[in-house]
Amino acid sequence: MMSRKYAWVKDALSHASLSTKVRAMKHFMMGKKEYLPKRKTAADMDAVIKCALCPNMCKFDCPVLEAEKNEAVSPSGKMRIAHFIETGRLETRDAVELMYHCCTCDACREWCPFDFSVGDLLKGVRRDIVISHTVPEEVSRLRDHLEQTHTMDERTYAPDGRKNGDILYFMGCTVLSEGRAIAEAMDAIFRAAGEEYAVMEDEWCCGAPLHNLGFFDEFHTFARHVAEKIGESGCRTVVCSCPTCAHTFKNLYPETGHPLQVEVLHATEYISRMLDEGIITPGKFERECVYHDPCTLARKLGITEEPRAVLKGIPGLQLREPHFSRNHTRCCGRGGQLWRTNPRVAESITEKRREELEEHAACIVTACPTCREALGAHGEVYDVSEIVALSMGDGNE
Ligand code: SF4
Ligand code: SF4
Repeated sequence: MMSRKYAWVKDALSHASLSTKVRAMKHFMMGKKEYLPKRKTAADMDAVIKCALCPNMCKFDCPVLEAEKNEAVSPSGKMRIAHFIETGRLETRDAVELMYHCCTCDACREWCPFDFSVGDLLKGVRRDIVISHTVPEEVSRLRDHLEQTHTMDERTYAPDGRKNGDILYFMGCTVLSEGRAIAEAMDAIFRAAGEEYAVMEDEWCCGAPLHNLGFFDEFHTFARHVAEKIGESGCRTVVCSCPTCAHTFKNLYPETGHPLQVEVLHATEYISRMLDEGIITPGKFERECVYHDPCTLARKLGITEEPRAVLKGIPGLQLREPHFSRNHTRCCGRGGQLWRTNPRVAESITEKRREELEEHAACIVTACPTCREALGAHGEVYDVSEIVALSMGDGNE
């Protein structure tokens, strides 16, 4: 039965001979198949084609396009190239390399009528690149590094703490390397809350970077290990400073067959709960601060009000809002491993965001160790937990 959608073809052919009609109809109905790869793909080809055919409606908000000024890295541009790669029409190293020009910020999803995130669609494309053994060298190196060290960055200190407790503080790779101040702030907050929290002795990365880069098998190894260790800790709640760890535990683990049987909270959810219940009381922090919403926290987890509630609850703190805030935030440049594979592009995105924020206040506050690290290279940047800990010691710097 011909669908009504194609009825106009029948009308247009009504004067042709029967054999022409049959040939034309067959060709028309089967034509779509020629635009699909012959093999099974990890990429969602229906979505890739829809996005490739879109007039790039979301491109004005893509930070990578803005930084590179190259249509090939626009959201739809990447999907057009992905389509060529998946159908075997374009397999050059340059084309494959473009599949990594994305900071997984999800800005495209905010505007997309299909609710697509090109960052998410690229995961399947990258998985197919892994299967075809055409992964760029710098991307393979990231996987090798993770498999050898179990962390994205070099650990600069060993966390000291209990191995069991009701609360497990999952520190995340960035806190374990460059975010000791955040770990100390969380320690002060847990102590003020009377919480005997646990940390992992040899904490592995949650595996999110592997999943993002299409290394699904390796991701499962990490997810299995981390889920097992969380189970062994006997905790009831996992608290994460990193929004990506929180998103991975809350959403990606269940979606990929590794559900955790515990509550997962981002640090700002935990802190705002402690403040609401009157378990901790902040002191003064007399500064003007501008809040930067981390993409993953605001868009993947929808957590925009908890950090603001915490900051507004600190006496003396004057909270300023940037023009692009909440789900309309702008990437700090360090999303999706872009800063490791394309540091120049990432740095330009970081610069732009820092300038936008500094128009509102010299002191930037965020709720992600990676955003803090990116934006803090040349200025004063804190995590929400640090501000709370400083205020509890009435420690205005
Ligand atoms: S993500 Fe959505 S809006 Fe953006 S180019 Fe693709 S289909 Fe169009
Ligand atoms: S996720 Fe962000 S960087 Fe990637 S295509 Fe979408 S808007 Fe651009």
